[in-house]
Amino acid sequence: MKIGVPRESEANETRVAATPETVKKFIALGFEVAVEKGAGTASRILDADFTEAGATIAASAEQALADADVVLKVRRPSAAELAHIRKGALVIATMDPYGAEAEVKAMGDAGVTAIAMEFMPRITRAQVMDVLSSQANLAGYQAVIEAAEEYDRAFPMMMTAAGTVPAARVFVMGAGVAGLQAIATARRLGAQVTATDVRPAAKEQVESLGAKFIAVEDEEFRQAETAGGYAKPMSEEYQKKQRELVASHIAKQDVVITTALIPGRPAPKLVTSEMLATMKPGSVLVDLAVERGGNVEGAKPGKIAKVGDVKIIGYLNMPGRLAASASSLYAKNLYAFAETLVDKAEKKLAVNWDDDLVKATVLTRDGAVVHPAFAAEKQ
Ligand code: NAD
Repeated sequence: MKIGVPRESEANETRVAATPETVKKFIALGFEVAVEKGAGTASRILDADFTEAGATIAASAEQALADADVVLKVRRPSAAELAHIRKGALVIATMDPYGAEAEVKAMGDAGVTAIAMEFMPRITRAQVMDVLSSQANLAGYQAVIEAAEEYDRAFPMMMTAAGTVPAARVFVMGAGVAGLQAIATARRLGAQVTATDVRPAAKEQVESLGAKFIAVEDEEFRQAETAGGYAKPMSEEYQKKQRELVASHIAKQDVVITTALIPGRPAPKLVTSEMLATMKPGSVLVDLAVERGGNVEGAKPGKIAKVGDVKIIGYLNMPGRLAASASSLYAKNLYAFAETLVDKAEKKLAVNWDDDLVKATVLTRDGAVVHPAFAAEKQ
């Protein structure tokens, strides 16, 4: 059994899908592991650390992928990488498949079994494999750190002999995993924090972190959570009421962190140009949904956009800005899942295709796109 870990080829991707800790565990399961030279550098892992853990260092992606039965990646394989992966290999990564139907089909055509980690069901057994949570948690933290960096004032209230500095007012929009960590981080820095969400369950979670919850709490709000725990897209009428509520609140905020997402859809627009115009000079927004089209009008992917005297941080790959922490958690998520695909006594791959976790995550298999969300679109 061989595992290949190429260096991530996408620009801006600093993470790596294995760490010395997970390499050791894979070797104990009976795998050989080949890691491409330099794969861990941006995550502060040296080739020597991988070697010490028992991996071999491959000189190129081609070498790392050749003969691999399992390929571990952060991002979906590129066409060039796909060309080096053998038919039937398992490729485990975040596949980001929405809007990438051609790339998903290419993985099917290449005959690889593509596993999309972001489709892992959010059930207790799979918590340890939940890459969305492990990465969103870090993104929420880092969003506040980046905002603090760009904000020209202090976050905590400071009473000094020279006068009092007021606490920063931080508003977090979307209180899922990233939002809750943003709330906790902003609170630790001493900010006065408010938050909103469309799911009623978020209210108690926000309040338990010591922040104030504000939302349009109508009948639609009471029904806004899907069985899977995600938000539903809200009606035009609800969004109008939400915009009115947000408009009056946002004018008083110093920092806004937006994290609102709806699976498989563009991010809802929550902050309009008109709202930005009412904000105080020097206010900072961080749009964590920028990769999905953004929650804030005028956010620019990969950049800090200036709208009047307000800054909108639109950094891509926020977890990648904490590459060492992000890789460590991501690699553990992957190990926890991959371990379930192995017959430990026989030391061989033994995928149970009927396992709910496998069924939920397999995108392509045996030359075809098999995931219900994508296979249907093909026909
Ligand atoms: P997400 O990244 O899909 O979305 C972020 C947040 O944005 C969500 O809280 C969502 O409700 C909110 N949102 C969507 N549209 C909005 C709008 N128009 N206005 C304001 N907010 C809006 O969410 P997530 O962080 O992945 O969490 C989704 C759910 O999964 C939550 O219920 C979370 O508690 C749950 N969860 C469960 C587990 C588990 O049980 N293993 C693990 C992690 C998360």
